[in-house]
Amino acid sequence: MLSQVVELIENKQNFGITTHVRPDGDGVGSSLGLCWLLRSLGKHAEVITCDEIPVAYRSLPGADEIRKVAEIDREYDAVFVIECSDVDRPHIGNLEKEFTVNIDHHSTSEHFGSINWIDSTASAVGEMIYNLCKAIGGRITKEIAECIYLAIVTDTGSFHFPNTSERTLKVASELVKAGVKPAEISEAVYNSYPWSRIELMRQVLDTVKRDEGGTIAWMRQTLEMRLTAKAVDGDNNGFVNIPLAAKEILAVIYMREVGENEYRVSLRSKGDINVAKVAEKFGGGGHKNAAGCRVVGDWNEKEGEILTELKKAVEKTQEEYTKKIEDLEIIVA
Ligand code: 5GP
Ligand code: MN
Repeated sequence: MLSQVVELIENKQNFGITTHVRPDGDGVGSSLGLCWLLRSLGKHAEVITCDEIPVAYRSLPGADEIRKVAEIDREYDAVFVIECSDVDRPHIGNLEKEFTVNIDHHSTSEHFGSINWIDSTASAVGEMIYNLCKAIGGRITKEIAECIYLAIVTDTGSFHFPNTSERTLKVASELVKAGVKPAEISEAVYNSYPWSRIELMRQVLDTVKRDEGGTIAWMRQTLEMRLTAKAVDGDNNGFVNIPLAAKEILAVIYMREVGENEYRVSLRSKGDINVAKVAEKFGGGGHKNAAGCRVVGDWNEKEGEILTELKKAVEKTQEEYTKKIEDLEIIVA
């Protein structure tokens, strides 16, 4: 919990920080935000990852210092593991031998850390780093503010998603006070892609289909598409959300081929439809409205299985909703 994290930071000097493979905005922003916080407290800290940092987040202060490593190659008093369901998610060798601090806002976390601080009410880990800074009596410097603002903006879909709370907006407001220019961050994150993103988007959207009820959309991305579009990592950020722009679409499946018979799956939903539960059935996890998993096997077969589970989740929510309305009508009558 938070008090243990504060105590550890106060008593130790030398920290590593890492996040999951294919780091997203929250992973990168929160890691760097924490790194700047630790440094502002006179500590040694560095961020290590197994993957390159996506172009969209490279303008963050400190992003150019992030070290790409395959395994732990230095001595740390503790390693912070940001946004990871388990100790293997960062794909960094020997991490399990370290004193780890698991900081996450997913309720599905496996509590693998030597210390675990999980807050599923936080919109992003970035919001938790803000709380940590306050708890430890630190000052929100411009560097910290820029990093955790990016974390919050990306994890809330620019304050569109239901995880956006009054507290999220208050924190965002404090970050702007500390020197963040929201338009500059949005420009760097959303309008700085190479043209290959548009090429890839065109091809992926060409595969989009809907079920007969018109509430579920699914689409695919092949390795071939990545090649022909000359895509780079991160070019497909947010593709999964595009079909949600249609009012009648309640849930989306986006499957991308990542190897032979191997696929990464992203699931998104609106309202009470719980896609984390669907992802868990396939060994993954996530949040109610945004989840994912990795599947291996025949593409059509796997897509069919996921679609079946998702249909059940949509129908269950719709039945519950109808029942609620009927109960209300009884009360009103
Ligand atoms: P995305 O679709 O953006 O890759 O992931 C959406 C959410 O699902 C994220 O919050 C992420 O942590 C979670 N997620 C995606 N893939 C996996 C997975 O393989 N395992 C677990 N536990 N969570 C995942
Ligand atoms: Mn997050």
